[in-house]
Amino acid sequence: MTRILLLGGTGDALQIARTLRASDVYSLAGIGKVPVDLACAVRVGGFGGAHGLHTYLVNERIGLLIDATHPFAARISANAASACRDAQVRYWALRRAPWQPQAGDDWHMVDNWPQIVSALTRYRRPLFTLGREPLGHLDEIPSDQYWVVRCLESHAGNARASVIGARGPFTIDGERALFASYDIDVIVTKNSGGSATAAKLDVARERGLPVVMTRRPELPPADREFDSPAALLQTLRELAPHR
Ligand code: NAP
Repeated sequence: MTRILLLGGTGDALQIARTLRASDVYSLAGIGKVPVDLACAVRVGGFGGAHGLHTYLVNERIGLLIDATHPFAARISANAASACRDAQVRYWALRRAPWQPQAGDDWHMVDNWPQIVSALTRYRRPLFTLGREPLGHLDEIPSDQYWVVRCLESHAGNARASVIGARGPFTIDGERALFASYDIDVIVTKNSGGSATAAKLDVARERGLPVVMTRRPELPPADREFDSPAALLQTLRELAPHR
């Protein structure tokens, strides 16, 4: 029977984890919630780079690695691809499609923090939905800006920044209320794709607001790529019906 190692930390990964068997392993980095109701084993924390992951794959006799990490978690994906190649373990990846701009959208594409800062010079009240990165720059807020940062962590903010600790999914009505109450004039986000956090883009379009959109990092090719948990699970059932 093929033993699976599932790399997760996303809602999609949790969906897959719920179908795994006791002999399989669900792996988390350790920055979010750890589920306690899964049939499979759960391990938490890094492997120690590609070399450590290679050792784990061999020692634990893993036959298939499923990479369902977030598309911006590029380091673990690179490590997984490299470790699987060296250990001759199959490497599957769940890569949800990126969002695409629609009619009426005003997207400014960026790759890194300096490009974000430069794209924001014309705006006053940005909403950041980038994760924790802006928290490291709260002392650098220009005197004519007020930042709203939404991320998983709670944080006191400061005189020119509010930090909202929240976890998606987010509704369109909730996003409308957030934009209105903070008088947001631009949003800064990353192209995660998926539906759970897409409502902010609908509200930006409704309000005619620009979006500073971080491009996805380059991810390694996989032996098989899937764009949804359902497609991946279907293939798993076809290839190993008695798992
Ligand atoms: P990253 O930069 O690609 O990975 C940093 C290090 O964290 C990796 O080198 C690895 O440590 C460890 N790691 C990451 N995912 C792991 C996993 N599933 N199991 C065991 N170790 C893991 O990742 P990140 O951007 O910091 O994200 C960390 C986790 O949060 C990921 O699992 C990702 O799915 C989830 N997440 C990330 C984002 C995002 O925007 N980046 C959003 C939502 C969820 P070692 O080198 O020691 O093995």
